[in-house]
Amino acid sequence: ASMSAERQIVSTVRGLLDGHRVATVAVVSVDDQAAKKFVEALGEDVNVSTHNDVEQLAGLSDLDILIANKALSKNVNHPEKLDEFVKSALKAVRFGGVVIVREDLKDAQDGKQVARLTDYFDVFRVAVDGKNTGLELYAVEEVEDSLYAHQNWLDFYWSFTKKEFPQTTGENVTFRDFLDKTQYTDTGIYAYEWIFGDNFISPGGYEENLKVIKRFGDLRAGQTMLDIGVGIGGGARQVANEFGVHVKGIDLSSNMLAVALERVQKEKDARVRYSITDALVYKFVPNSFDYVFSRDCIQHIPDTELLFSRIYDSLKPGGKVLITMYGCGYGELSEKFKAYVAQRHYFLKNLKQIEEIAKKTGFTNIYTENLTGRFKEILGEERSRVEDNKEEFLSKFSQKEYDSLVRGWGDKLGYIADDNHNWNLFLAEKPF
Ligand code: SAM
Repeated sequence: ASMSAERQIVSTVRGLLDGHRVATVAVVSVDDQAAKKFVEALGEDVNVSTHNDVEQLAGLSDLDILIANKALSKNVNHPEKLDEFVKSALKAVRFGGVVIVREDLKDAQDGKQVARLTDYFDVFRVAVDGKNTGLELYAVEEVEDSLYAHQNWLDFYWSFTKKEFPQTTGENVTFRDFLDKTQYTDTGIYAYEWIFGDNFISPGGYEENLKVIKRFGDLRAGQTMLDIGVGIGGGARQVANEFGVHVKGIDLSSNMLAVALERVQKEKDARVRYSITDALVYKFVPNSFDYVFSRDCIQHIPDTELLFSRIYDSLKPGGKVLITMYGCGYGELSEKFKAYVAQRHYFLKNLKQIEEIAKKTGFTNIYTENLTGRFKEILGEERSRVEDNKEEFLSKFSQKEYDSLVRGWGDKLGYIADDNHNWNLFLAEKPF
């Protein structure tokens, strides 16, 4: 199921340029063989210059595409070298052009390298022709050939387009940046995992997720699933090893996905693939998945209509979607709840709104269920578990973490009592 790295990368680039003619490309690659393969994959009508060092970017301009193929290996731990590279890449490529950085991180000492590099590129801004310029992240993807033929999940390529950004002041620069720096910091993730259960950042951990997944009906080995907001990968690994389903897990938080990647690299489960990307941005192959699953993610996503239509398009005819989400209830919203929702940048809907959107999108056999009763039970159990195991928790995390979880769980129980906070389920099919 995989082609060469070069063909995979070129096909991503063509998708990003959306049919626009590609005239000039520069490939920086120490490996001449790989450079040749890029030239071949790009086709005859393209003017490709090849280079063996990023320093040679200096003289280039107006490129449609720049591909840096394992060209940064020595530089990834040197911020000033990376700065130099990104600045010269942003000079060499035209606005709207594509920059690809491919690096194999399997030997990196630091398992979080992929998250650090993603953060680095994503927030980089520099003035070009008086414009606040940067690299808009499309995705961090795995080289499939490395995964399938060499059991390596950590050979990545980052795809970006060069863009002018509005001037921002101090705030988090992108939504990914916001997620990684606020709710899903490394410590935040591990503390959440402690309370939810191994490999899960959602109520009830493994057992609850298995119950939810079974709502799909008969999952069969070899079927394919997209998991939106896969987190640290528990759900993806579960459907793979319980049912033999092949999963593509995507998540916008690089901290989350770095953990999922570290773990799959150890477990070597070839049924599981991951990508750091935004569910509203990533170009899914149309009619390609048997299932789309999303566990407690879509409260983060502003445009539910757009999300649902993208899910619809990505499903095979007859395919099923199953989503659980944080939603709002029907009670009058308290000021405290509104402040919580605003601070998290949540976009909450009630079940009726979800059902309306699902109908409008064209789904059939729509089924919705309010799971808030179960949510309340789980929250109570989880809060007791932290309180009863305070010492163990404090041997791993700080008092601040402890207080914030206990307070957070208490607050959520309060929001439930006011019918402000709900936990909702949605299941539907794409008609044949
Ligand atoms: N599904 C996982 C689980 O059950 O353990 C993680 C759930 S966690 C509460 C929600 C996840 O959604 C986070 O990892 C977050 O980064 C991700 N997320 C938020 N916005 C996203 C977006 N636009 N595209 C993809 N993932 C997103």
